[in-house]
Amino acid sequence: QSWFAGVQMGPPDAILGVTEAFKRDTNPKKINLGVGAYRDDNGKPWVLPSVRKAEERIVAKQLDKEYATIIGVPDFYNKAIELALGKDSERLREKHNATTQSISGTGALRIGAAFLSKFWQGNREVYVPTPTWGNHVPIFEHSGLPVKKYRYYDPKTCGLDVKGCFEDISKIPEKSIVLLHACAHNPTGVDLSAEQWKELSQLIKKKNLFPFFDMAYQGFASGDVDHDAQAVRIFEKDGHLYCLAQSFAKNMGLYGERAGAYSVISASKEEADRVISQIKILIRALYSNPPINGARLAAEILNDQELRAIWLKDVKTMADRIINIRAQLKGNLVKLGSSRSWDHITNQIGMFCYTGMTAENVERLSKEFSIYLTKDGRISMAGVTSKNVDYLAHAMHEVTK
Ligand code: PMP
Repeated sequence: QSWFAGVQMGPPDAILGVTEAFKRDTNPKKINLGVGAYRDDNGKPWVLPSVRKAEERIVAKQLDKEYATIIGVPDFYNKAIELALGKDSERLREKHNATTQSISGTGALRIGAAFLSKFWQGNREVYVPTPTWGNHVPIFEHSGLPVKKYRYYDPKTCGLDVKGCFEDISKIPEKSIVLLHACAHNPTGVDLSAEQWKELSQLIKKKNLFPFFDMAYQGFASGDVDHDAQAVRIFEKDGHLYCLAQSFAKNMGLYGERAGAYSVISASKEEADRVISQIKILIRALYSNPPINGARLAAEILNDQELRAIWLKDVKTMADRIINIRAQLKGNLVKLGSSRSWDHITNQIGMFCYTGMTAENVERLSKEFSIYLTKDGRISMAGVTSKNVDYLAHAMHEVTK
């Protein structure tokens, strides 16, 4: 008799399922709009020129392969948090940040969840927007923190449910944790304006909530790393204590390198020192220390004036392609005479577009047009190119007539 006879088959991952169906399809016109990874206008993965250069320099240095520290490569994580908060951050100058390298954004969230699970003194519930990135829920729940929702997206406008969002957040019990997408909300592409962030910052302060920022797309949304950090910097200026998960998967195209960072912005240097000492203990037992290659690449770019300038251009190249292709997709739908409003395609920002298409529309897209996306109608804009945008617009028009 087996020890694991009672283990049930788990459901397949929703997004990997989309890719599987795409691979099986033999239609030459097929399009995969599932995966959240940047593609160039030929539909190919793009290694950033700045990353290629950094790679060459690192190879030339003939570095050893020794372990990093428990919290990673200092040249990487110190620059990572500086990228988020800005050079002038008083908090950084006074070393109020407890920052560690992490296994990309997911690992940052997971360390944060583990830390809060052990040390959070308030209400042990994490409030996330509806909808949110699918992995947020299991990340917190696996760490023993139950997840609750606040309203965020309005299906009627395909935009922000401002009233619902503020109403729900104002009702969250004091001393709860509230998860905020810093920019390029996944899956909706709907962000708060600067004014709305300022208002939300005040509300969260008044309600004594703990903001947990997830910033997986800094620079990727607008093409400007400072602009995309505005939410975090508004909260920083308002004096919040908060924590932050960062990923370099999208903005440096380092997906498989797993370079990220997690920071707790603390009340003092002394508190930050205590916090990081406990984070080290958690990491030691989880994976001991992080991989070095991605961190070295990112550090090379962030610490070198010339490479950094090339990288900022690379980021803008990616963001601009996405912004332009959004305009083309919307323009084509209008030209085809669609009676729907598709303004949200260009109002939304970042990797994803929440189209408002139904599960039925999505099924027709795959069956009749070999176009694959998740059932919630989310398009990964990175999969749209100047070569397939006409075909995509035609298909979207046909299934939504
Ligand atoms: N948070 C959000 C909102 C995301 O969209 C992603 C990437 N899909 C992540 C975190 C983390 O990704 P990674 O672990 O690859 O950095």
